[in-house]
Amino acid sequence: MAKQKIVVLGGALSGPTAAARARETNADASIILLERAEAISYAVGGLPYYLSGEVDARADLAPYRAAFFSRYYEVDVRTKVSVERFDAAKRKVYTSAGVVPYDTLIYALGAGSIVPPVFGDGDAIASNVSLLRNPAHLQRIDALLRKGAQRVVVVGGGYYGVEAADCLARRGCAVTLVERGPQLLPEFSAAAAGQAARALAAAGVELRLGVGVEEVSRKGKKIVAVRVGDERIDTDLILITAGVRPRTQIFAAAGGELMRDGSIHVDDRCATNLDGVYATSICVSHTHAVTRKPVWTAQASDADKTAQVAGENAAGGNATLLPTLGTAIVRAGALQVARTGSTELGGRHEAAKIQLAGHSCDPFFRGSEPLELTLYYSGKSGKSGKSGSERILGAEVVGRGGVDKRIDVLATAILAKLTLAQLAQLDLAYSPPYSMTRDIVNAAGVVATQAKHARPWTLEAFSQRGDDVLVYDVRTASQRKAHGFAATVMDLAKLREHRRALRAAKQVVFVCETGRESYLAARAASHMGCAEAGYLSGGLNALREVDSLHT
Ligand SMILES: Cc1cc2nc3c(=O)[nH]c(=O)nc-3n(C[C@H](O)[C@H](O)[C@H](O)COP(=O)(O)OP(=O)(O)OC[C@H]3O[C@@H](n4cnc5c(N)ncnc54)[C@H](O)[C@@H]3O)c2cc1C
Repeated sequence: MAKQKIVVLGGALSGPTAAARARETNADASIILLERAEAISYAVGGLPYYLSGEVDARADLAPYRAAFFSRYYEVDVRTKVSVERFDAAKRKVYTSAGVVPYDTLIYALGAGSIVPPVFGDGDAIASNVSLLRNPAHLQRIDALLRKGAQRVVVVGGGYYGVEAADCLARRGCAVTLVERGPQLLPEFSAAAAGQAARALAAAGVELRLGVGVEEVSRKGKKIVAVRVGDERIDTDLILITAGVRPRTQIFAAAGGELMRDGSIHVDDRCATNLDGVYATSICVSHTHAVTRKPVWTAQASDADKTAQVAGENAAGGNATLLPTLGTAIVRAGALQVARTGSTELGGRHEAAKIQLAGHSCDPFFRGSEPLELTLYYSGKSGKSGKSGSERILGAEVVGRGGVDKRIDVLATAILAKLTLAQLAQLDLAYSPPYSMTRDIVNAAGVVATQAKHARPWTLEAFSQRGDDVLVYDVRTASQRKAHGFAATVMDLAKLREHRRALRAAKQVVFVCETGRESYLAARAASHMGCAEAGYLSGGLNALREVDSLHT
């Protein structure tokens, strides 16, 4: 029987992963990988960290060269070969080096960078302007920096613009980050993005938000300055990280169907509408675990999963793709910000949110860092109708340590369809240097479950409360002495004596150090007939701690 011919288009990250999985699935197949560049299989995500000096050698980012794939995976890697088109009916790929027939095709051509028109295109761009997408870009940037480039303008404040700015500031460059949109990191809430912006600024990055590069000044082959609003910024090096667009023209020309955003919507086998054609890489969208709608994330972590499934199925296997959550984490100065799932309020799930503050590990342990967690959960009870049977929908975590672990637990909880009560009970590892007996993730389950009985005020809402909101401090005298706070003092034991005032009040917020006594007070006040009794989630302790994450 003739060997199955599998052809993989694209060799950055997803293509080689798919080719390797195809080989693991089918030992006999003939596998050909076509890539127009010279390098294949490199850690794109690691590129900024070479610039900051946190990766020792450029070669560490590309350990698996073409020879490795040929030898260990018996993949016929053909670099410097440009794919021009393919014919899905004839099952042939047309390239700059001739025609390559296939039985199954894996489309992994990724996404192309968006370059704002003000920079021109092709050779007109300038010798000191670069993207940061591959080893060749990295080499070029590194050479310019070694020759003395010091003032860097980063254009675009998404994940990779923020990472690049952060890493270049660590290297000692004078960095200005220009973002046309109103905030950095558009996937995040304005509050978390604002925290990231302040942390970047504290790390020395100059930020220009809500304005784009409107004009460039050239000298010879270089751009020596950019105009941003009324300001002229002199520069030695410009990095363009202004977003990507799915590279799907070749797929569409073969009759492939595209989503409105230009991505290829794959099913849970990574199959496309074209017979025998599977797709992976940062040009595909697939089902979101919470919204159930197709979503294009352009993230390596997601691309890796579609690559495994596309590779296995193209080789005759039977792999199924899990839905995505858009889980992501980014470092901005001293801060880590992370997200997962759906962070929309309202909608089909009647989503609600609570926000709470905690610590990366026991606060008595030196090195403990404040953490802030926003949990989005369904306002609808589960089938049992019990309190706590509501599902978790999404989360954002911000802090200076331990953010990665919390967001990953929450991502797993969402995919496993855990309820709030189960989140509260989750048996997580505890030892003082690493966590707390009741981790902030558990605490989020508790607070969200209790939200039905008394409204937990987020730190954000509390800071912006109106004058008509009555604030009662239910702390002990010694706690009040240790940390002053302007509010009406109320002895928890004498709450009932204030029944009349509480009934008459429109909105009441109780505060204590941790949020526990104030929750009890709010619950009791509700029972007494207070129309809207709430408490400060995380307490004044959290307010003080989290203040340091916001400044
Ligand atoms: C600086 C940076 C940092 C990142 N950090 C992270 C991170 O921390 N976490 C995360 O999850 N994601 C991260 N990403 C996202 C992700 O890692 C990258 O986008 C990665 O490049 C995705 O690889 P890919 O193979 O899916 O697509 P692409 O990188 O777009 O690769 C497609 C390949 O196809 C080739 N190609 C295109 N057209 C043709 C053609 N006609 N013929 C032949 N070959 C062709 C291209 O040369 C390219 O090699 C980062 C991205 C960047 C740029």
